[in-house]
Amino acid sequence: GEPLQARFTYVDEHSCIGCTYCATTARGTFFMEEDHGRARVFDQAGDSDELVQEAIDSCPVSCIHYVSHEDL
Ligand code: SF4
Repeated sequence: GEPLQARFTYVDEHSCIGCTYCATTARGTFFMEEDHGRARVFDQAGDSDELVQEAIDSCPVSCIHYVSHEDL
């Protein structure tokens, strides 16, 4: 069948500095992983596109990326 989503949001956890901005901005999408203190996506449909984009824009090290369905 057709994919339900055309793109997915991922955190490059090696580059994340654990500032918590994304998890504070888009609480339905990102959480702070406890062991390493880095952000991770837990729900691809947890927030509006606008809020996810705001979280991406807030990242000081630009380590949140969209990945297309084809690139998965
Ligand atoms: S905004 Fe960027 S650096 Fe900060 S916690 Fe989120 S992914 Fe990590």
